[in-house]
Amino acid sequence: MNSHLTIIGAGLAGSEAAWQAAEAGVSVVLYEMRPQRPTPVHKTGNCAELVCSNSMGSNQDSSAPFLLKQELRNLDSLVIRSADKNSVPAGKALAVDRDLFSEEITRTLEQHPNITLKHEEVTEIPMAGPVIIATGPLTSPAFSEKLSQLLGQDYLYFYDALSPIIDAQSIDTDKTFFASRYGKGDADYLNCGMSRQQYEQFINELLKAEKVSLKEFEKPIYFEGCMPIEVLADRGPQTLAFGPLKPVGLNHPETNERFHAVVQLRKENKEGTAYNLVGFQTKLTYPEQKRIFKMIPGLESAEFFRLGAIHRNTFINAPQLLSGDLSLKSHPNIFFAGQVVGVEGYVESSAMGLVASLSAMSRLKGTAFSSPPAETAIGALLQYVTSKEGNYQPMNINFGLFLGLEMRIRDKKKRNQHIFNRALEMQERWLVSLEGVKRYRRPKPA
Ligand SMILES: Cc1cc2nc3c(=O)[nH]c(=O)nc-3n(C[C@H](O)[C@H](O)[C@H](O)COP(=O)(O)OP(=O)(O)OC[C@H]3O[C@@H](n4cnc5c(N)ncnc54)[C@H](O)[C@@H]3O)c2cc1C
Repeated sequence: MNSHLTIIGAGLAGSEAAWQAAEAGVSVVLYEMRPQRPTPVHKTGNCAELVCSNSMGSNQDSSAPFLLKQELRNLDSLVIRSADKNSVPAGKALAVDRDLFSEEITRTLEQHPNITLKHEEVTEIPMAGPVIIATGPLTSPAFSEKLSQLLGQDYLYFYDALSPIIDAQSIDTDKTFFASRYGKGDADYLNCGMSRQQYEQFINELLKAEKVSLKEFEKPIYFEGCMPIEVLADRGPQTLAFGPLKPVGLNHPETNERFHAVVQLRKENKEGTAYNLVGFQTKLTYPEQKRIFKMIPGLESAEFFRLGAIHRNTFINAPQLLSGDLSLKSHPNIFFAGQVVGVEGYVESSAMGLVASLSAMSRLKGTAFSSPPAETAIGALLQYVTSKEGNYQPMNINFGLFLGLEMRIRDKKKRNQHIFNRALEMQERWLVSLEGVKRYRRPKPA
């Protein structure tokens, strides 16, 4: 094993990982292929370039995205520090001047005495390690090929197909019923039955709805297994009723009522605090999703933890491949970070860069990795990435990922405030356990 840390990709995750390690005295070699080898969306050779929106998500008190940022602030995150410093007014979101933001990160990394920044495409995986692979959603084709050889083709994906996730407490359970098709196995699905009239109104609105257009490099991603729901609906008015919304074997268990179509909801976590709308990957705009999916019986007051989407995205089947510290089970000196592990978003990717950096440093220093508590936003994300069961799709931070509270609090605002306070308390204790790897200042109150 080398005495220095190699990091591939100086996006959000790689930049954060490099900074964390360099500040702890580790010598880092950071590779970034831009500007020599561009991606379809990046425009500069800067580190941590934001490819689309300039928003780092909500800064609203007690929200899950704010909590994640607050935890990163407590961990001296370079990404969040630069975002705070270069913020622009954006209501309740943290938005940044994208050029100043990435120029500042680039300058900080270039000037750091422990970092060597090399503008080169990496085309071989440095097997000796320790190495952090943070090549992002647009990993270069040559490197993707090598990853696919190392991991196996079935474990590397090139698009994501996200279905909306709903807060269980916002579902009207008087209008829904638990059942499995033909009563086989446990009644794990929560079902929303639709009459013919409800179904036809739903399809009408779906067809009229505003959609997000596909980028040129995203066009080849559709295939039968992940068709957007509106594309299926466009094939014929009854396509969904014979496809993902088929009602056969799903009569109401008490009344035996037969439905024209049934929307199925599947538990997102063991505790059943969140449900996903099965097969509802979509390119509808967010406001249209909220409007139209609330037409489904039982979902009139639905609160969405996440909305649906389909993107071009390179990511690995992390729960199958990675250990709890983001290292590859088969090659423990290879770590993965950022969107490639199956998180969504600038801040989430930075958080996974930070965790991978702490893990790689623990390995270099010969100490055990101290995992962030599952009650924290960073810990909840890590838990999702490394232990999600079943179909694995990328995730952004939301309260549906967190461990439930011991007491039941019906008021959503109060519940979230409890989760928020608990997370920061747990994080403070965790920071102490990191001292063998890196010392952090005691956090200021949020
Ligand atoms: C079209 C598009 C729009 C998006 N819009 C948003 C948005 O609005 N908001 C949001 O939060 N997220 C958005 N995302 C997701 C966003 O890209 C990620 O959240 C974030 O950038 C991921 O961080 P990362 O560090 O994992 O990857 P990146 O930030 O992409 O960094 C990966 C880096 O690795 C480099 N690289 C790749 N292969 C190699 C190689 N072989 N050798 C050396 N370097 C390499 C790349 O050039 C890149 O700089 C979008 C993604 C795409 C593709």
